[in-house]
Amino acid sequence: MSSAKGRILRLLENLVLREARVISKRVVGPFIELTVDSLGDAQAGDKIQILLPDNDVRTYTPIPGDPPTLLIHLHADTPGPRWARSVAPGDTFRFKGPDRSLRVPDGPVVIVGDATSVAVAKAFSLARPDSVTALIEGPFALEGMRTFATGDYAAIAAAVPDGATVALTGGSALVVAVRAALRARSIDAVTKAYWAHGRTGID
Ligand SMILES: Cc1cc2nc3c(=O)[nH]c(=O)nc-3n(C[C@H](O)[C@H](O)[C@H](O)COP(=O)(O)OP(=O)(O)OC[C@H]3O[C@@H](n4cnc5c(N)ncnc54)[C@H](O)[C@@H]3O)c2cc1C
Repeated sequence: MSSAKGRILRLLENLVLREARVISKRVVGPFIELTVDSLGDAQAGDKIQILLPDNDVRTYTPIPGDPPTLLIHLHADTPGPRWARSVAPGDTFRFKGPDRSLRVPDGPVVIVGDATSVAVAKAFSLARPDSVTALIEGPFALEGMRTFATGDYAAIAAAVPDGATVALTGGSALVVAVRAALRARSIDAVTKAYWAHGRTGID
């Protein structure tokens, strides 16, 4: 289904969008991982907004590298995962960005989130080796990341080293719950909700 934002981007695509070509595609746990030829000058914490073929728009996190990577969570048969399942090496797509999304001061950082946060955790881990703790809700995370069970927010607060910045991302319910658990221990966090039940395109 198209969206107003998607239709506007389609009208302006030659002016405001970049193009990338898919190099490779593979399934990694509950994700499709796409490597692409270029995502511009993407930095850790950036986002891109992909214009889907039906003129809808979905936001994903570039993982800078050579080549850069996208990790798309296959949570349901919805437009983003449908596109990721259908796209093939050699295909091109248009996107807006990269644009700044999550700003984290220099130094150690704890990234807390869900499956949609694995990409941003990976991006910061590559940009700041040995300075990133990644805590991911649910059963799956990439190597070097830790998982936690839904509701086990006390463990998150206990895992925050002195002086680290906590960045909360992922589903809005998780962000709200973890922020409350951290506040109870006087720990501040920067927050960025990536999706919310019953809503699309919250960014
Ligand atoms: C800055 C930013 C960076 C992001 N980076 C990534 C990334 O790297 N990888 C990634 O996979 N996602 C990422 N997301 C999240 C992604 O944009 C959303 O999950 C998006 O809604 C997915 O689109 P969709 O077509 O699957 O579902 P939509 O059509 O947008 O949503 C339909 C319904 O599905 C539910 N829903 C949406 N997303 C999820 C989910 N992940 N899990 C469970 N239920 C969901 C909601 O109830 C929603 O109403 C990012 C979001 C933002 C804002």
